[in-house]
Amino acid sequence: MFASLLIANRGEIACRIQRTARRMGLRCIAVYSDADAQAPHVLLSDEAHRLGPAPARESYLNVEALLEAAARSGAEAVHPGYGFLSENAGFAEACARAGLVFVGPPPAAIRAMGSKSEAKTIMEKAGVPLVPGYHGSDQAQDLLAAQAQRIGYPVLIKASAGGGGKGMRVVERPDDFEAALTSAKREASASFADDRVLIEKYLTKPRHIELQVFADSQGNVLHLGERDCSIQRRHQKVIEEAPAPGMTPERRLEMGEAAKAAAAAIGYVGAGTVEFIAEGEDFFFMEMNTRLQVEHPVTEMITGQDLVEWQLKVAAGELLPLTQEEVRLTGHAFEVRLYAEDPARDFLPATGRLTHLRFPEESPHLRVDAGVGEGDEISVHYDPMIAKLIVWDSTRAAALRRLSGALALTEVVGTTTNLAFLQRLAAHSAFADADFDTGFIGKHAEALQPERSAASDDLLALACLAELLARAQEARRAAAASSDPHSPWWSTDGWRLNAGTHRRLIFDDGAGDEGGGPRAAVVHYLPDGLYEIELEGRVIEARAQLREPRADGGGRIEANLAGRRLVATAVWQGRELTLLSDGGAHHLTLFDQLAAGEADETRDDRLVAPMPGKVVQVLVEAGAEVTAGQPLIVLEAMKMEHTLSAPADGRIAALRYAAGDLVEEGVELLEFAPAVVEEAAS
Ligand code: ADP
Ligand code: ADP
Ligand code: MG
Repeated sequence: MFASLLIANRGEIACRIQRTARRMGLRCIAVYSDADAQAPHVLLSDEAHRLGPAPARESYLNVEALLEAAARSGAEAVHPGYGFLSENAGFAEACARAGLVFVGPPPAAIRAMGSKSEAKTIMEKAGVPLVPGYHGSDQAQDLLAAQAQRIGYPVLIKASAGGGGKGMRVVERPDDFEAALTSAKREASASFADDRVLIEKYLTKPRHIELQVFADSQGNVLHLGERDCSIQRRHQKVIEEAPAPGMTPERRLEMGEAAKAAAAAIGYVGAGTVEFIAEGEDFFFMEMNTRLQVEHPVTEMITGQDLVEWQLKVAAGELLPLTQEEVRLTGHAFEVRLYAEDPARDFLPATGRLTHLRFPEESPHLRVDAGVGEGDEISVHYDPMIAKLIVWDSTRAAALRRLSGALALTEVVGTTTNLAFLQRLAAHSAFADADFDTGFIGKHAEALQPERSAASDDLLALACLAELLARAQEARRAAAASSDPHSPWWSTDGWRLNAGTHRRLIFDDGAGDEGGGPRAAVVHYLPDGLYEIELEGRVIEARAQLREPRADGGGRIEANLAGRRLVATAVWQGRELTLLSDGGAHHLTLFDQLAAGEADETRDDRLVAPMPGKVVQVLVEAGAEVTAGQPLIVLEAMKMEHTLSAPADGRIAALRYAAGDLVEEGVELLEFAPAVVEEAAS
């Protein structure tokens, strides 16, 4: 076994690989971009080397810089993780040339599976079933359109070089084919520098079932069971589980054999995943990922094996640790991917600094794979995944209960996340019944969307207490900073001195449409730390203490409201208050009465960039009349294309940007004049 390992990646996977490598006694060498100088994967390492500026192209995808870091550190082996260069045959070759052990398959195997089209040709020969489709090299538009016609609509256009759900377009009708093809090709060349596509029959109620395979350099191949990854949005996985619900030993054997045949056909070595799409009795080969997969922990949980350890051993020339017969699958595991993204805006990636981050404690039933810590930033440069929560129990139902429990104890403030969405997914009865296919999220969209509801009286009372406690904390800090030991600030209730005997506070829950909106409370100070909070005539007696104070004035509030004990964590960002309680996050704005008069009216008929990005196409001309929902502009952001549509019927008053322009978040992309709606006289 080699003695040192360079991890050519970042985030949770770089941390996860180091945990195993360290346990095996290897020296761990991290690499980082300027954005990651203080990232957890760097702090965890034995030594770390700078690659370059934040953009991946100049850092984590910079082969020269990586090889230089390997030479400087004396690394003997390189683990590419997933994403980045993990499926880049050129990188694997460059490592070999530099005398480094590449922890992954031989370059030829990566290359064979790198193109989905070529992979399908190889699988066809190996007798593995394929989805009906076209994966030829002739890419003439007429031919592709004719093939789509032959296959029969709906069809799916896929980038041959694709991954991560990018470069994929579902086409329902022949009329839409040309536009979808153009868009898929554009996204494919932007993401993979290769615009070739293949076409498949689009299955409407399939399950995504993938087999974990492993091979050593002596020709042994086995599989470690399957994972069901059908719960997807944007063709990307959100929840994965193992084993797949409803899987029978016979079918597992059949799929396992097909997966092993796929690996054997290309002389595979190391960890790989063969992805199948299954509908009814049928299953079809989709693609093979020649790397460790994001969702590998669910397999680890039910097999009791460490797949990174297997990877390192196989890379060092050792035999597979088990034979197929020795592989045992026990219990059930789920993984959820906690993302910085907005489920209410088609899962648009979000950014922000994680001002508050809490995960439940790890146990044999719960694993947390995170690559960020409190205070870290989710930036536009990398994948917006915050962490993965993995649970295990003896049955699916018990594991699902653990999942809900773990999500309820997870707290994130500072960016929009899919946490509440995941909670609703985990609690959905159809999911509990395993009644799902890849369309699950779309089908249950309404039930899964966290509702904005008006803040309860309890919540408002807690918000008032949060504000009072923040001021008290501020006063105590001022006292501590003052050199006069007799300063009145030292009095524990000194903060009350300048506050009078009552205060009027207004909080806005942002749910004006749902019966909420700005609401006023008057807090009266009584002796002995007692308050009376007056809410629309109702009076609540309250006491509160602040534990674990935060620099922003927040902390853990232990309150007693009219004899009931309530606990919440308060996080302040200026006047924005987040209250975390009962597994939920509630946002409130402390209203500044002076500014209230000027508060600008929020208009929802403006077309603004939802995030920083590049305009790739403007689909309308100035002066055009458009209808609500009509696509107007295609924006590329975080390596994905987002089509922005007309918010209402109206006219394009003026264009502001052209294809190729870079835009900041929040800029108005074009001037839109909504059609005047005749209002009935009242
Ligand atoms: P696939 O989506 O190809 O079936 P996975 O579900 O394992 O496979 O997801 C891998 C994807 O994770 C990559 O294609 C990429 O979009 C994303 N990714 C790449 N690098 C990272 C990273 N460092 N952290 C989190 N996600 C990443
Ligand atoms: P990627 O490389 O982006 O992971 P895949 O080929 O694995 O691309 O497809 C991603 C997802 O898209 C699959 O997990 C599946 O849910 C869906 N998908 C792929 N092919 C089909 C198909 N022919 N019909 C229906 N859904 C499909
Ligand atoms: Mg895939």
